Amino acid sequence: MSGIPNNIPDDRIPEELGAALAGLYSGEARLPARIGGRTAGLAALRAYNPKDYVARNHLLAPISRLSMYLRHGMLSPREVADHIRARARGADREEGLRQLAWREFFWLVLKQKGRAVLENLEEPKYHATWSAELPEDVREAQTGLPCADAWITHLKDDGYMHNHERMWFAAYLIHWRQVRWQAGYTFFREHLLDGDLASNALSWQWVASTFSGKPYIMNQANIEKYSAGRWCEGCTADCPFMGSYEQLQEKLFGWRA
Ligand SMILES: Cc1cc2nc3c(=O)[nH]c(=O)nc-3n(C[C@H](O)[C@H](O)[C@H](O)COP(=O)(O)OP(=O)(O)OC[C@H]3O[C@@H](n4cnc5c(N)ncnc54)[C@H](O)[C@@H]3O)c2cc1C
Repeated sequence: MSGIPNNIPDDRIPEELGAALAGLYSGEARLPARIGGRTAGLAALRAYNPKDYVARNHLLAPISRLSMYLRHGMLSPREVADHIRARARGADREEGLRQLAWREFFWLVLKQKGRAVLENLEEPKYHATWSAELPEDVREAQTGLPCADAWITHLKDDGYMHNHERMWFAAYLIHWRQVRWQAGYTFFREHLLDGDLASNALSWQWVASTFSGKPYIMNQANIEKYSAGRWCEGCTADCPFMGSYEQLQEKLFGWRA
């Protein structure tokens, strides 16, 4: 790319890049929260301790944050698997390899089905009318729900969202807001540093029930438990997630499991 001098100091990169890329992106020019590349990827892998990974659904539990390096080929799945085998035991090891296997499974499905993964692979398991567009309040993290607004802010500010937050957000968008999963998929692709055609599309389809036997939902108790109450305590919003799973299934889908 012309116009960018070599060896500019780190603190001037946003300014120089901002000027060189003006008009090609929206938003403020700034350095990403995490540094890319093979060297940084290897350092992150070496630093990753998978002990207690089995508790990964809890937002405070250890996770690797290696997805960005895997996505861009800076680390191979085999390297990560070898690291987990060497450093984790028992349930931590099993869960670490299982999650990595989901990534590989999604890639095999993509290989078999190609771009058909961008359309419903199966019929949804309930009837509704979904809108095609991402609502503006969602795009702007102005839903009025402290939890949902925080998930969206993580996505937009960090280019990353915890797996459990991704599941909650996807369920909120598809089942509560009745938006087509493809709008959420596209929103993720715009912002995720690990944005990946296979894992992204097929995870959205899993939540939507077009690649699984039933729609995924959560309730307020689940969010509170796995976030250590960080948004629920003192929340005054009219919480749409309140209720038992049976009550929410009846409300959202018209059936009980
Ligand atoms: C709606 C939705 C969209 C998603 N979109 C993407 C995406 O675009 N790119 C992406 O890499 N992952 C995606 N995921 C899967 C998962 O959320 C991320 O891989 C994970 O959060 C990355 O964080 P980590 O590296 O700390 O993962 P860890 O928990 O430390 O896992 C290690 C690695 O295993 C793989 N992995 C872990 N969990 C999953 C999973 N459930 N599905 C597939 N692979 C997994 C990832 O490569 C990850 O880096 C999505 C999940 C959902 C629910």
